[in-house]
Amino acid sequence: MTANLDPLTGPGVAGSPGTAPGFERRAEIDLSAIRDNVKRVIELAAPATVMAVVKADAYGHGTIPVVQAALQAGAGWIGAAHISEALPIRAAGVTAPLLAWLHTVDSPFAEAITANIDLGVSSGWELEYIAAAAQQAELPARVHLKIDTGLGRNGCPPDRWDELLGAANAYQEEGLLRVVGVFTHLAVADEPDREETDEQLAAFRESVSLAEDAGFDLEVRHAANTPAILSRPDAHFDLVRLGLGMYGLSPFADQSSAELGLRPAMRLVARVTNVKKVPKGQGVSYGLTYRTGEATTLGLIPLGYGDGVPRSAVEAPVLVDGRVLPSRGRIAMDQFVVDLGPLEDPESLVGTEAVLFGGDGPAADAWATAAGTINYEIVTRVSQRVPRVYVEGSWGPADG
Ligand SMILES: *Cc1c(COP(=O)(O)O)cnc(C)c1O
Repeated sequence: MTANLDPLTGPGVAGSPGTAPGFERRAEIDLSAIRDNVKRVIELAAPATVMAVVKADAYGHGTIPVVQAALQAGAGWIGAAHISEALPIRAAGVTAPLLAWLHTVDSPFAEAITANIDLGVSSGWELEYIAAAAQQAELPARVHLKIDTGLGRNGCPPDRWDELLGAANAYQEEGLLRVVGVFTHLAVADEPDREETDEQLAAFRESVSLAEDAGFDLEVRHAANTPAILSRPDAHFDLVRLGLGMYGLSPFADQSSAELGLRPAMRLVARVTNVKKVPKGQGVSYGLTYRTGEATTLGLIPLGYGDGVPRSAVEAPVLVDGRVLPSRGRIAMDQFVVDLGPLEDPESLVGTEAVLFGGDGPAADAWATAAGTINYEIVTRVSQRVPRVYVEGSWGPADG
């Protein structure tokens, strides 16, 4: 038997008993989409450099393949939240500048410094720990100071910025670290009309000036996330931090990926498992929150909240056999149900593909709407229970 690896016609489509399975469920990641999205943003952001943000396993797409695709496409930096996310990138042989910005007292700072990972710093305790780690590693740390210009989350409050600059300066004089960057994070850039972004950018410029006046020779100033990259050229500075857009998703409520020149990289697909005719009034799934309004056919999709499909989703769209159909009843841990409508030969749909989102299927945004969340969460929460498969273009197998 020869292995058929084609994602569409692989073994199992026709449900022939006894053949090796092609796939049951999988998240296909189109690396050509990742590269094209990065190239598109490089054009938009020039002359600023693009940092590919790959926290949370590259928003569920898989860190190392995404890092490689982003660098191939011309990204100049890689960003992650935790040092623990950055270390495996270095271990994979990536030498590009790499920044991690979210730490605890137990973060492996010395390992980060040894691995030449730049460190975001929001407060004095981080400087202390990083200085101690630099002493241990016998190498100066590379530090980006983060100012809270209004997000109210991480970042140094403006009234303590002078103090942070002073402490950083002292450690720099001792040769324990070098301040190479200043950055901030925006709160409402996905709503381009809001004036808080103007206020944040003004506060950021002021904080950068103060850092430069304190004598720091900055390599990079950075503020923009995907929405700001796309809507606020005045937020680009030297470096832009690209997350969502790299994965081909839109951060804006009123603009699609296509309208932004981006292509979604993830397609979540499973084989329909059981299909059966049911009478009018059939209850569906736990709680019997849905009952069929007439005799119909129910198809079972083997993906559930154990796979990261949100349990909160109601009437979420699924592409089956050329039609987009609503999920019915509660999403369970392993499975959920779609209403296929009256069918002559239900069994013929056993083994056919059900596309939850991406590619030819619904947009991740439609699942976000059905689940009361945002597209960021829909792709990021797809769990490790779902195999990732890397493809070039929507349909073909990856060529390397
Ligand atoms: C996640 C994150 C980004 C990327 O945001 P997107 O909106 O996905 O582009 C940028 N900067 C910081 C500090 C982040 O935490």
